[in-house]
Amino acid sequence: MKITDVRVTQPLPAGMPTGWRGSMGQIVVAVDTDAGLTGYGIGGGGAAATHVIQRELRPLLLGADPGPIEQLWEQQYRATLAYGRKGLVIMALSGVDLALWDLRGKTAGVPVAQLLASTPAADVVAYATVGMAGDDPGVGIDRALGEGYRVIKLALGSFALPGDAEQVVRAVRDVRGRVGADVTLMADAAMAWTDGPAVLKLAQGLVEYDLGWLEEPLPADDLDGYAWLTERSPIPIAGGEHEFTARGFADLLARGCHHIYQPDICWCGGLTQMRQIYTLAQTHQVRVVPHRGSEVFGLHAILSLEAGVPLAESGRPWMEWVGGRELAGGRARLAAAGNGFGVDLSACFNAG
Ligand SMILES: [Mg+2]
Repeated sequence: MKITDVRVTQPLPAGMPTGWRGSMGQIVVAVDTDAGLTGYGIGGGGAAATHVIQRELRPLLLGADPGPIEQLWEQQYRATLAYGRKGLVIMALSGVDLALWDLRGKTAGVPVAQLLASTPAADVVAYATVGMAGDDPGVGIDRALGEGYRVIKLALGSFALPGDAEQVVRAVRDVRGRVGADVTLMADAAMAWTDGPAVLKLAQGLVEYDLGWLEEPLPADDLDGYAWLTERSPIPIAGGEHEFTARGFADLLARGCHHIYQPDICWCGGLTQMRQIYTLAQTHQVRVVPHRGSEVFGLHAILSLEAGVPLAESGRPWMEWVGGRELAGGRARLAAAGNGFGVDLSACFNAG
């Protein structure tokens, strides 16, 4: 089989937030073959990633055998090394990689999850992230409970001023009072703090409200700060949604930066890197809870790669159009079986 074309488009779905989540948002990649099969993947990086694929990655892939995905990943990584390595080039590569995995599944006639494990889990507990992108957090909590979620993550930016420890503690205390003791709560600080000792104090103030984890309290590049904090924090520290490639995660793991690692399969380098990250994390005996894990690409990975206690984030409302999964009663599962990732994204290329 040979690759005959690599196409890329940036859909502009309803409800897409303004700011980088939109402009640097999801791209859809299609890899066509002379066998008549097309693989679809989703990456990130918007118009900049589109340019990288069209000008740099597509010429490398045309005429190649789509089979040796890992080899193709290394080839693309090396070709972009001077300006890539992390960030939007790897977001672009993620889309290509997922399209190649989709092709591998379609060629074998099985779902991707089945390529990775002979008996993938049927479903997984999902958690709802509330207060994202201007959402009213109170409404979000009630909606999540009403939909059957028993695990909820608070996007702290909508509950309290970034960096204001007292407000954060008050907000978490109020939410704990509202949901009761049986709901698992986590909190996401979205890199709002810069000072490790201040975050440690915050974590100590939050202990009595029983948080599953405190996510990304510091900037993603502050590895020293994270290693210091993670060693001392009474609440597990999560992070990694803004880290890239297994090489990047190897560094975080070696330095003990987090208790819980959260790679995003559409950003971190695709399934090829996600698999390696799972393996590394198992070596270090730490947990992986992928960012946006109940969106279809991450869900295939979680259902087949997680050996411990799997957990999948509810996903973004503006990505609902991708389909391929079902969320009900606080659990996520794949929608009616299809080969590859089980989604048909061809319509994205017909829109204009
Ligand atoms: Mg986050």
